Amino acid sequence: MTAEAEQVFTDYLKQKDLKLTSQRRTILRRAMEAEGHFGAEELLDLCRREDSSISKATVYRTLALLKEARLLEEQDFGRGRMVYERSLGHGHHDHFICIRCGKILEFENNKIERLQDEEADKIDFQIVYHSLKLFGFCRDCAPQASR
Ligand SMILES: [Zn+2]
Ligand SMILES: [Zn+2]
Repeated sequence: MTAEAEQVFTDYLKQKDLKLTSQRRTILRRAMEAEGHFGAEELLDLCRREDSSISKATVYRTLALLKEARLLEEQDFGRGRMVYERSLGHGHHDHFICIRCGKILEFENNKIERLQDEEADKIDFQIVYHSLKLFGFCRDCAPQASR
């Protein structure tokens, strides 16, 4: 996974006349290894454990490059910050977001996917991508949860 990502990133950087510096490599590796959804600050912490000279600006700039190279997906889950997740080797899915604790749960439902296509067909809309987000309370945060 990481080797493949490194190849994709190197090729992308080459197009932009940029090199895979050791800092960019560290950020790439940490981002590819991170579990699930993470913010830029969390990634910065992870990277600094390996190389304390990595700056916040470098992490933000590299995140933008990783996004452009389609290695990462950027999501706004309405928590006042962007969240990233690996897209290489991670198929399409949608999200439930808990508005109390911020937990993010993934789901995939072919029926929903199909319904979206049907709706688009009706009005000749060509879907390029979509991101379905359902906001509410997770099992632990639901008011009057029956336990
Ligand atoms: Zn919750
Ligand atoms: Zn996700």
